[in-house]
Amino acid sequence: MRNRLFSFVAVMSVVVLASIAVHAQTIVIKAGHMFDTQSAEFVKNRLIVIKDGKIEKIEKGFSNVPEGEVIDLSNSWVLPGFMDAHVHLESESSPDFYLNRFRKNKADVAYDAAVYAKRTLLAGFTTVRDLGGSGVNTSLSKAVALGKVPGPRIFSAGKSIATTGGHADPTNGYREDLMGDPGPREGVINSRDEARKAVRQRYKNGAQVIKITVTGGVLSLARNGMAPQFTMDELEGIIEAAKDLEMITAAHAHGAEGMKRAVLAGITSIEHGSLMTEEVMDLMIERGTYYVPTLMAGDFVVEKASIPGFYPPVVVPKALYVGAQMKGTFAKAYKKGVKIAFGTDSGVSPHGHNAKEFQLMVEAGMSPQDAILSATLETAKLLRIDNELGQIRQGYIADIVAVKSDPLKDIKTLQDVSFVMKEGVVFKNDQ
Ligand SMILES: [Zn+2]
Repeated sequence: MRNRLFSFVAVMSVVVLASIAVHAQTIVIKAGHMFDTQSAEFVKNRLIVIKDGKIEKIEKGFSNVPEGEVIDLSNSWVLPGFMDAHVHLESESSPDFYLNRFRKNKADVAYDAAVYAKRTLLAGFTTVRDLGGSGVNTSLSKAVALGKVPGPRIFSAGKSIATTGGHADPTNGYREDLMGDPGPREGVINSRDEARKAVRQRYKNGAQVIKITVTGGVLSLARNGMAPQFTMDELEGIIEAAKDLEMITAAHAHGAEGMKRAVLAGITSIEHGSLMTEEVMDLMIERGTYYVPTLMAGDFVVEKASIPGFYPPVVVPKALYVGAQMKGTFAKAYKKGVKIAFGTDSGVSPHGHNAKEFQLMVEAGMSPQDAILSATLETAKLLRIDNELGQIRQGYIADIVAVKSDPLKDIKTLQDVSFVMKEGVVFKNDQ
């Protein structure tokens, strides 16, 4: 037993030393085509020199290769690591989804979430924002940051905030004796004071961002998917508390009235935005509010709603109606010039398929360049990390992915990522 313990310790110290050694070594990527976020085009033949997880310099041409480990991506299209501003890493929707809330312990959820996080990273997404779970998402964020489990960098909202019976009230659909009366701690508020308390509780729990559900939702066990669910007073309570704590705020919203109130109260981003009117679009442009379209969620729920039994009866009409609006709204908002960040709502659809959102955005009329910028530069701006992430640029953190054909010619190629590096560590290399 003692020997085994000793050899375990010896092996672990070798592993730790090895990872430190890898980190300190210079890595040189030969990029045949490198996405330049300034021009939104690929530039040819760049040497990306990486040290201590950061991009030390970028040089033109392959003639002067500095000493270090060389990674040959000369036949690849190299891009900044993708960012997804809307995921739920704790679960995936399925006909069992609603019952699983009673079957799974937090530890079960944590193991699931670790698997989904790895899938997301290997699909090329090196940064995500988790917009609602049980709190396991916040623990996962810490575990990934400490290198305990592989995954994208996670900005976690912890548990979403709703009003009683609202989209993120965790006891919707329960029988009466189980419903109880959840409060700010569980993310259910009904006044300005409770709103502030719920935000501060999340800050205390280690969440980095705040998520609220300002209208009904498709998958919650409640009748109305679109009506507003917060008063102005409550919204102002949320946003004033979040601003004090330097936390950005995201509002799940399908109907226009809820969106309008959230934008007027100063929300950072509107999620889904399914029935966004021109009035709301104009307000968002005026105030610089981001729109995170999550077209994949619309696509997925419409498809699954036609399978008998996949969703409970109360969900089906909402899925068919709301899901079908999303692409048309996106096309209008893009033409009008609303700021668009990239988000998939993965967890509604399976994790690791996140890059399908690029395809849906392009199908709805966005240029491939703008689709790529939305998942890099724009999402970095939304998350307020654009001074160190979202671009392949000197001094930036080395989050780098690659594909084997030109995504500006066929955007679908982004669904087949062959190389993933996060903070200078290679997680995938299918060369
Ligand atoms: Zn969501």
